Amino acid sequence: MAVTIIIDTLLIISLWLLGWLFFLLLRYATDIKKLLSEPMLKHPVIIFESDDWGTGPLKQQNALVQISELLSRFSDSKGQHPVMTLGIILAEPDIDKIKATDGQVYHKRTLADTRYIPLLEIIHKGVAQGVFSVHLHGMEHFWPASLMHSVDKNAKVKQWLFANDNLQTEDLPSELQSRWVDSSCLPSSEHSEEDIYRAIDEELRLYKNIFGQAANIVVPPTFVWTDIVEQAYAAQGIETMITPGRQCIGRDKQGQPAPNGRYFFNGEENEGLLFLVRDDYFEPALGHKAETVLQRISDKIKCGRPALLEMHRFNFINGAKNNTTSLQELEKLLQLIVADLSDARFISAEQLATIIRNDKRGINSEYMLDSSLQRFKVILARVKLLFQFNSFAKYSGINLLLKLV
Ligand SMILES: [Zn+2]
Repeated sequence: MAVTIIIDTLLIISLWLLGWLFFLLLRYATDIKKLLSEPMLKHPVIIFESDDWGTGPLKQQNALVQISELLSRFSDSKGQHPVMTLGIILAEPDIDKIKATDGQVYHKRTLADTRYIPLLEIIHKGVAQGVFSVHLHGMEHFWPASLMHSVDKNAKVKQWLFANDNLQTEDLPSELQSRWVDSSCLPSSEHSEEDIYRAIDEELRLYKNIFGQAANIVVPPTFVWTDIVEQAYAAQGIETMITPGRQCIGRDKQGQPAPNGRYFFNGEENEGLLFLVRDDYFEPALGHKAETVLQRISDKIKCGRPALLEMHRFNFINGAKNNTTSLQELEKLLQLIVADLSDARFISAEQLATIIRNDKRGINSEYMLDSSLQRFKVILARVKLLFQFNSFAKYSGINLLLKLV
């Protein structure tokens, strides 16, 4: 009798779990299909992704020298140094020229100005050493017309532009830092298609003039971009876009980024543009610790995904204390990686994009998992992550079941 009750109970539990599993697989079929097709990396891949370098305070030079010296002291088992991606901003306001028009007409000063020759030499040297890789972040870290429209409405913007001996775009109101929408009035509005194509053409020409080769990867400022921007970049030769795993298409009434519900996995493609996901953050000036970031890297390894760590310029140029803390924490993280992850690979985002693109075209790579057992473990880890905060999976017992597998 007791045995029958146990068997019946187990049968009911099994049917319950099977039912819910079936429901979840159907309900999230699109996401599950995507995570099954997302490339699975064999080795831990760690890339430091640092935006906002380029025009701005010349104290960047010293920071970049410090970073390159630090990175060049570490190597993976293949002898490759850790790579920091520099998301490059190509232009800033030319204050004297704008003032000469009584503040009415915008003029830019670009990275081609002679004052930036030493900065570019440091960047080129770091690229040659294999510790830096450059990506396009944008012409300006704002849309010039939106900035000029905001001057008379916002005293902070006026002060930033006309009474500022440390012109860095990090200090602008966040919504104005979104280049690809007009945030001078909230909620933001879209630029015309013609303006977007013209601006991107101008960006790409200048980037090529300065760096000697066409831009290959783009990182949209504040991760706000519209479909037209995406199409324009793809049409003009950009091959890879860095995303935070979702698309935001504007700024809402409060100035916050407005998502459109579109999500990305690594290696997804649209009109020839391949997407990578950068959704881990290492900003020591904001209190992020090396040990915590190492844990995030471990989570990425379980899922066969690369760890792209966002690490802005402000960590290194906003005061001596932030600079010291950031360099120390970066050094600590590199020590932990080298000590704990002996099979780690330091590559650039551009190399990663090429590896993933080749994998999708059926070209074998030593970076990809080939063992069926390992691939199954990665799929399980990805499914667990997908359902981590899902209330259906939580209350049905599916998450508990996945934990036991
Ligand atoms: Zn930025």
